[in-house]
Amino acid sequence: MSDTSDIKLVDAPAGLEGSGFFATAADKVLGLARANSLWPLPFATSCCGIEFMATAASHYDIARFGAERMSFSPRQADLLMVMGTISKKMGPVLRQVYLQMAEPRWVLSMGACASSGGIFDTYSVLQGIDEIIPVDVYIPGCPPRPEAVLDGFMQIQELVKTETLRRRNEPRYQKLLASYGIQ
Ligand code: SF4
Repeated sequence: MSDTSDIKLVDAPAGLEGSGFFATAADKVLGLARANSLWPLPFATSCCGIEFMATAASHYDIARFGAERMSFSPRQADLLMVMGTISKKMGPVLRQVYLQMAEPRWVLSMGACASSGGIFDTYSVLQGIDEIIPVDVYIPGCPPRPEAVLDGFMQIQELVKTETLRRRNEPRYQKLLASYGIQ
């Protein structure tokens, strides 16, 4: 399984050997578990949301990645998937949802509208959700095909797998949140 390719087995400490025992780094194991059991919160406001429904349905089947358990409650989700045009009126709602999610949390921006405002270069549309919340992965396209959505999702899985347990307490991450006015 390619998921485990970056896990390096080391010699077991004395007394912890034989079948049933193996030694590895805790953050690798937690990363592997988290990456394959993400709970997405689909924040779908327009057409990209429909494309996501196709991604979740039987043909593309997001359950293959362990992510079929959609959460419409921010406190029970760890991946915010923003898909669709976000108006400036909707911006504070999106930010509130992000703030209500517990750490660790990741953000996926799906499609041109969420990532940059898309074709809606108007006074009423937010020109990219990264104006109000940090984004981990952007998926280009209008709309992106389900293959692109799955590719973006796998990029998130890579991030989750390789993230250290210390990252959320590091000054760099705190600085990123502070740049968005988040404590
Ligand atoms: S990027 Fe295109 S498909 Fe997606 S919400 Fe915007 S207009 Fe619709």
